[in-house]
Amino acid sequence: MNVLNKNIDIAEVVKNDIAHHFHPFTDHKSFHAEGGPRVMTQADGIWIWDGNGHKLLDGMSGLWCVNVGYGRKELAEAAYKQMLDLPYYNTFFKTTTVPTTELAAKISSVMPERFKHIFFTNSGSESNDTIVRFVRHYWKLKGKPYRQHFIARTRGYHGSTMVAANLGGFQGMHEQVGTEFPGFHHIKQPHWFDLGGDKTPEEFGLEAAAELEKKILEVGPDNVAAFIGEPIQGAGGVLIPPSTYWPEVQKICRKYGILIISDEVICGFGRTGNWWGFETMGFEPDIVPMAKGLSSGYLPIGAVAFADHLIKDFFELGGEFYHGMTYAGHPVAAAVALKNIEIIERENLVGHTREIGPYFAEALASLRDHPIVGETRSVGLIGAIELSNDKARRGRFASPGRVGTMCRDNCFKNGLIMRACWDTMVLAPPLVITRKEIDELVRLARVALDATYDQVK
Ligand code: PLP
Repeated sequence: MNVLNKNIDIAEVVKNDIAHHFHPFTDHKSFHAEGGPRVMTQADGIWIWDGNGHKLLDGMSGLWCVNVGYGRKELAEAAYKQMLDLPYYNTFFKTTTVPTTELAAKISSVMPERFKHIFFTNSGSESNDTIVRFVRHYWKLKGKPYRQHFIARTRGYHGSTMVAANLGGFQGMHEQVGTEFPGFHHIKQPHWFDLGGDKTPEEFGLEAAAELEKKILEVGPDNVAAFIGEPIQGAGGVLIPPSTYWPEVQKICRKYGILIISDEVICGFGRTGNWWGFETMGFEPDIVPMAKGLSSGYLPIGAVAFADHLIKDFFELGGEFYHGMTYAGHPVAAAVALKNIEIIERENLVGHTREIGPYFAEALASLRDHPIVGETRSVGLIGAIELSNDKARRGRFASPGRVGTMCRDNCFKNGLIMRACWDTMVLAPPLVITRKEIDELVRLARVALDATYDQVK
């Protein structure tokens, strides 16, 4: 693949970008001081090229989404064909399109039996907004209008709309919003490395789950509508809860009649070695938001699966649900998502992830001898490397995020995309990655860790 043949004037793109493009999640001062963006131009499999011909191993699948890898012609063809047949129609007011309906049935077919109904959105954030609106209305329909409160976790990420940002547990986002929305509560994240102290991970898992019951009692059990959590917290730093955590959370939610929402925006579509993170972590949700891997990021689309018991009541008791987006269930995005799921099935990418997961874990563990690596952990093809200034005590560097950012920049320089969540380096490569490519990923990670160590020792 020769990106230099593409005749793109990269300097001009950068100039235009600085002049006109207002970027999300970007520190604009340092962005401009450093000379603007890196322009990505082409990709294939797990590899991506920038406009200067620099080749990078994408250890993050874009933003945790390109599950089937880059360069899938079939997905482009599915979009092209659907655009010719019917480029757009909506799903409001009792209409539908062929791929939208087929996609709803397909998603349902890869879920547990009880999930038969799928609501479409354009993103993970919109999926979570949809859920808050659905759940609050649902409890009103059920004659329990006081059940309006949601419990989530600190360092949980549920999106960037007003509701999703408040549902999430990122303090910086709450502060920028100005004030927290009422009705959203947070308990601590089940992260043993930082918070586990002398407890075993299993003991800590039970302690972290017990916080949920404490919070329920504080808010009032009758006031709590639902608990939301990512099976594994992604943007919070790939926080993999101890095995005791989720079963205990489920027990507590059932005890108080509280709905469980499993945010599968990252964990869904094979990432953890099963179709769904809740299967890997051992719990049974009532509501499942999804996006990212649904289309492998080839087009924007999100969805929410609702369990039958909710749908039955909602359809029987409710009238019109005053909620929906113009592009919900967009036929072109749906056609691409449908083909994407067919590829995951045909190539058995879920089985491949389950099979290669232990190899990925071992490869990451080979970095534990490094002077600034305090822990490595992974499930399937999602993993993390904790940077530490004191391995024995699980110590942290001063100014959280400073060393992580250095390491991220060193990765970029050396041909690897690995993201930093404060001082936790996170990885979620495309599910098509091979053993040989995992070896290369870990070799590149070590080069970046060495360069980072040279800067901080
Ligand atoms: N939920 C989780 C777990 C996510 O990781 C994200 C995005 O990273 C979202 C929701 C929001 O998705 P989107 O960025 O598509 O709105």
